[in-house]
Amino acid sequence: MEIKKCVRCGSLYTTDNDVCNECLIKDKVEVIKLRGVINEGLEVGTTKQDLAIKSGITSRNLERYLKTEEFSGIYFPETSCDLNNNEILKGTIEV
Ligand SMILES: [Zn+2]
Repeated sequence: MEIKKCVRCGSLYTTDNDVCNECLIKDKVEVIKLRGVINEGLEVGTTKQDLAIKSGITSRNLERYLKTEEFSGIYFPETSCDLNNNEILKGTIEV
């Protein structure tokens, strides 16, 4: 039996999940929120920061959810700064 430390609250647990049982519920609620925000339709150029603000999820947890299979196909730049730089490089934004 492997003892793991919960990434959300630091408690020890032995299940196969990424977090302890208590946080598993919080994770589920947040993933539903995140899914909702994404399904509502996002503006082009929505960053991880925007997403965190819109969904009320901390960037640390958001980072974790975005790595899951469900969201791994969607790309979000870290900040709008990243985006602007990339877009300017590609010449798609008029400055
Ligand atoms: Zn926990």
